[in-house]
Amino acid sequence: MDLNSTVEKEFRITERQKKALHNLGLKKIGDLLFYFPSRYENFSERKNIIDLQQNDKTTVYGKITDLKNERARFKKLHYTQAVISDFTGNIKAVWFRQPYIANILKIGDKVALTGKITSGKNGLYLANPSYEKISSYENLGEGGSLLAVYPETRGITSLWIRSAIRRISKGYPWNIPKGSPWIDDPIPEKILKKYHLPSLKSSLLFIHAPQKENDAEVARKRFAFEEIFFIQLARLKEKNEFKNHDSFNIKISQKELDNFISIFPFTLTNAQQKSIGHVINDFSKNSPMSRLLEGDVGSGKTAVAVVATYAIVKNGFQVAYMAPTEILAQQHFQSFINYFSQLRLTTKIGLITSSECKKYPSKVKINEATHISKSQLLKWTANGEIPILIGTHSLIQKNVKFKNLAFVIIDEQHRFGTRQRAQLVHQPATLTNKRGRLPHLLSMTATPIPRTLALTIYGDLDLSLLDETPPGRKKIMTVVVPPNQRDRAYEQIRQEINDGRQAYIICPRIDEPDPEKLNALNVKAVKAEAKILQEKIFSEFKIEILHGKLKPKEKEKILEDFRANKIQILVSTSVIEVGIDVPNATMIVIEGADRFGLAQLHQLRGRVMRSTYQPYCFIFTDSKSSKTKERLDALVKTKNGFELAEYDLQFRGAGELGGTKQWGVSDLGMEALKNIKMVEAARLEAQNLLNQDPELKKSPLVREKLSRNNIIHFE
Ligand code: ADP
Ligand code: MG
Repeated sequence: MDLNSTVEKEFRITERQKKALHNLGLKKIGDLLFYFPSRYENFSERKNIIDLQQNDKTTVYGKITDLKNERARFKKLHYTQAVISDFTGNIKAVWFRQPYIANILKIGDKVALTGKITSGKNGLYLANPSYEKISSYENLGEGGSLLAVYPETRGITSLWIRSAIRRISKGYPWNIPKGSPWIDDPIPEKILKKYHLPSLKSSLLFIHAPQKENDAEVARKRFAFEEIFFIQLARLKEKNEFKNHDSFNIKISQKELDNFISIFPFTLTNAQQKSIGHVINDFSKNSPMSRLLEGDVGSGKTAVAVVATYAIVKNGFQVAYMAPTEILAQQHFQSFINYFSQLRLTTKIGLITSSECKKYPSKVKINEATHISKSQLLKWTANGEIPILIGTHSLIQKNVKFKNLAFVIIDEQHRFGTRQRAQLVHQPATLTNKRGRLPHLLSMTATPIPRTLALTIYGDLDLSLLDETPPGRKKIMTVVVPPNQRDRAYEQIRQEINDGRQAYIICPRIDEPDPEKLNALNVKAVKAEAKILQEKIFSEFKIEILHGKLKPKEKEKILEDFRANKIQILVSTSVIEVGIDVPNATMIVIEGADRFGLAQLHQLRGRVMRSTYQPYCFIFTDSKSSKTKERLDALVKTKNGFELAEYDLQFRGAGELGGTKQWGVSDLGMEALKNIKMVEAARLEAQNLLNQDPELKKSPLVREKLSRNNIIHFE
């Protein structure tokens, strides 16, 4: 078997299995070999059925000796009941509302059932266990006493993957087939030795078929190191290459800056001033800036972006400002107008989104923006007449060309993929300008992430921290409201609104759930909730709804009215999570809080921490799980996003932070991020390697892997 051969060529699989494998990203034989277990079942801790006790959480191995679908008389509840036997005894297993199980499992099948041993009227039973058919008892323990359990999907079981791996490696002893470059170890030997990491081949054996816990651990450590090392390497290399370009030399005097800043309705915080200093200093160099401005929600990142923009415009160049949503692009467009209009400068500002284009100032009314056609806007951008262009993803369409783009700002940068960010910086129009200059880059983010993750995924960016909130802000009061105190919370909101404030109410869904779908019940929906609140609770106030399915025009109008306090209560989905800034809104109610991640909850409450009024966050949940309680407690206690992120990583596991989907780091890599020493070691080695050999000419395997993966990922 060649590792480059396809799975369907080497294995007899059904169409459904093929699809399932593709969904898991498993196409080639080599992919299977690099598909790692998510956990191990300790086979040596297996109990015989006779020894099972109430509340054991365990896996029961045995043969199905009875199986039938039943229906409880009074509730019409479907359930499937099986009897599992081993040589010591029998135990029942019961599955509720999963009648298809009787089609999957058959009497005589050997199975492994994992679940909790529960005590019922007729003795012990397993309630809703997860199940896996096993072909024979012997197979189970083949790699030792630990059984690899893989992330499964419909159609592909752990059992299938285990036996596939066994066939690929030709059983024991391992004999991994060839197929370059899969099993050429990309980590230089010196590094492996220095950190006592096993070779690639041993690690593959250890991770799929460990003899003892430690084997698996060491192998996981190696792969985690490898992943972090290559991400770092990729980012550092990108940084070197980026810095090797020329950029735009921007000159501006302190006096000019001070004059501009003096029109702001507030004094800048020290952190804002320091960050502006970093940016202006970077601007004065010949190589392009690549800087991350990281600051908790409400710390005032936009003001920093505005001052930097001013410096660029003063020098006669162009600025592009990209935001992840239309609402946010609109909002920034408006704030830029507010700042620049006070200068009585004739600076033109453009807005481009997929639904509309605007230009400020309008010819007729000097203080307003007007709609213009896209072609007109593109023309003015290309000939340099519009120096500031704000927009969504529309900014990176091919037909958007700048005359002399010198500065790119990316807001909520974690919302964009690496490629999208690169696209804006490497605008073809910019590359073709004299001497291949690249624009300066300022990325902004409020998503608090742990230090190790920042070091890894933002390795190519210099960091400016806004670790200080504007003065006079009060600490948010976060309250988890028990159901019987809902009315009291509403009364408090009423009082605050009567005092002039406004409120957001966040629901997890837009529409009422489909009653057919079981797990969708009991989650509040925007439309229904707004109706109830308007009719029964807050009839004296104007209530509106906001969600992702509204047309951009409708959203814009609603936000405008909310900003003008024509609307007192905005019932919304989490679309308002990123960036919306309405300082007078000081209350946020979050329904179904267990539906949101901690970081997201923190972002949500960040919406109301933007003025000197006392902000409130009222949290509701129906979940009684201790996990939910623990998380919400952390939210109540921790006011700072960075602490919360560290908490998430250490105590709740990396999963909560998003993993592969959000950061391009696998779950295994995320685990490694708990270990600052490992992350620092990987960074050090990556730096050393690049210092000695910037083009990686002496490390062809490293180079090859970097170019193959571009962005590294193991899943
Ligand atoms: P974020 O960092 O979350 O993007 P924004 O830039 O939206 O925050 O700023 C939040 C709010 O704080 C805005 O209303 C802004 O005008 C205000 N603000 C920014 N800087 C200051 C400051 N130094 N003093 C007072 N208010 C400020
Ligand atoms: Mg912002």
